Amino acid sequence: MKYIDEFRQHDVAKHLAQVIAQTVKPEKHYRLMEFCGGHTHAIFRYGVQDLMPSNVEFIHGPGCPVCVLPTGRIDNAIQLVEQHHVILCTYADLMRVPGGGRQSLLKAKAAGGDIRMVYSTQDALKIARDNPDRQVVFFAIGFETTTPPTAVAIKQAQTEGLINFSVFCNHVLTPAAMQAILDAPEPVSIDAFLGPSHVSSVIGSKPYETFSAHYAKPIVIAGFEPLDVMQSSLMLIRQLNDGRHEVENEYSRAVTRDGNVKAQALMAEVFELRPQFEWRGLGLIPNSALKLQAAYAEFDAEQRFEMPAIKASDVKGCECPAILRGAKKPQDCKLLGTVCTPENPMGSCMVSSEGACAAYWSYGRLRQV
Ligand code: SF4
Repeated sequence: MKYIDEFRQHDVAKHLAQVIAQTVKPEKHYRLMEFCGGHTHAIFRYGVQDLMPSNVEFIHGPGCPVCVLPTGRIDNAIQLVEQHHVILCTYADLMRVPGGGRQSLLKAKAAGGDIRMVYSTQDALKIARDNPDRQVVFFAIGFETTTPPTAVAIKQAQTEGLINFSVFCNHVLTPAAMQAILDAPEPVSIDAFLGPSHVSSVIGSKPYETFSAHYAKPIVIAGFEPLDVMQSSLMLIRQLNDGRHEVENEYSRAVTRDGNVKAQALMAEVFELRPQFEWRGLGLIPNSALKLQAAYAEFDAEQRFEMPAIKASDVKGCECPAILRGAKKPQDCKLLGTVCTPENPMGSCMVSSEGACAAYWSYGRLRQV
């Protein structure tokens, strides 16, 4: 398959592994944070970590939208169903994420709540059209990749006068989270970043330039295939050896410096920055999330319904917050593979298909190797 098979070639991977082994300096330790959960899964699915020299370490980042959603927002969504009797439309990954008190959308659905799994915002709009007497709320989550389709749905609802449709907006922004990781009171030691691929196809590589210069950290925007990750790691290692800190783009088949300007304009028209937003593991981050512009306020679920901020804690023993900061790895969690499995997840990092714990479980990394 074009754009897939050629990025999974075994002999090329072997060659790249040799070049990386020759390029690393034995006295250096290279700590590379892969921001996206998609990269984490590629690293373990294809055994990329095993092809790296022992002094190249991947630190798993918070780039999994389901994982970083704070527990209280799940509880808010459950309240919409139980107290306001809305039809709640959501993507599959969110269904099993535990909220406070181990309640989840799946359990609320089993208890009779009208919660429907959708594949796109268009599905949610159709449900609103088909149920004019019911309030339909789309539980919107995701980074800049999934934000434009939400913007399209809101504009479409306004054009159609679909007044029973609204959006519970939880869209978050990548550069602000990267900054928060390095600005943390006890920051994790990170030498360089593998930058997001899908997000960057929307925002472009430009937004990372100020960040990279300010923190003196190299960034390479990396595709999701194993050879992408290996090539990008090599590019980062070369930058670190040379003492450079630049933004480079390995994923040039999809990402440009300016990104998708049409999608950016759409986002800017429909959304504005929240002054701050809570991230699981990272706490409150200024200017890190979006809410609806005043012109679209009638489609904002947080304005249509009473939705007080809920402070809920994670399951005792769950290390998701530290894992999302890069401070711990799934193997550091005593619940991994014992109490916590994909069938019985204790935290979002095991539920989400992009979560680090799910990657360790799926690809047999339950113990230190
Ligand atoms: S293994 Fe489960 S309990 Fe442990 S950090 Fe991951 S999601 Fe949380």
